[in-house]
Amino acid sequence: MAKCKRCALKTALSEADIEKMVGEVRSMRGIRLADDEKYAERLRICQACEKFEYGSTCALCGCVMQVRAMLSDGRCPYPCTPKW
Ligand code: SF4
Repeated sequence: MAKCKRCALKTALSEADIEKMVGEVRSMRGIRLADDEKYAERLRICQACEKFEYGSTCALCGCVMQVRAMLSDGRCPYPCTPKW
């Protein structure tokens, strides 16, 4: 399987990998989450973005967007004009 040269994580995450990460973040105490509507809108924007890779990852920040988009204070790192 392909590996990310920079961090040695798998480049393409499986649905199970992503669900596990999402579940772990949801179970953390003190994490403020975006509401469902905002989360879905953020993911919709990412999925249409040219920086969205492997169905999960932002090429600019390296974050798994199914996780980053959950965070109420999460921000899009797109230069000059963040997309969300
Ligand atoms: S640049 Fe913004 S919209 Fe594009 S994938 Fe990254 S976080 Fe999502």
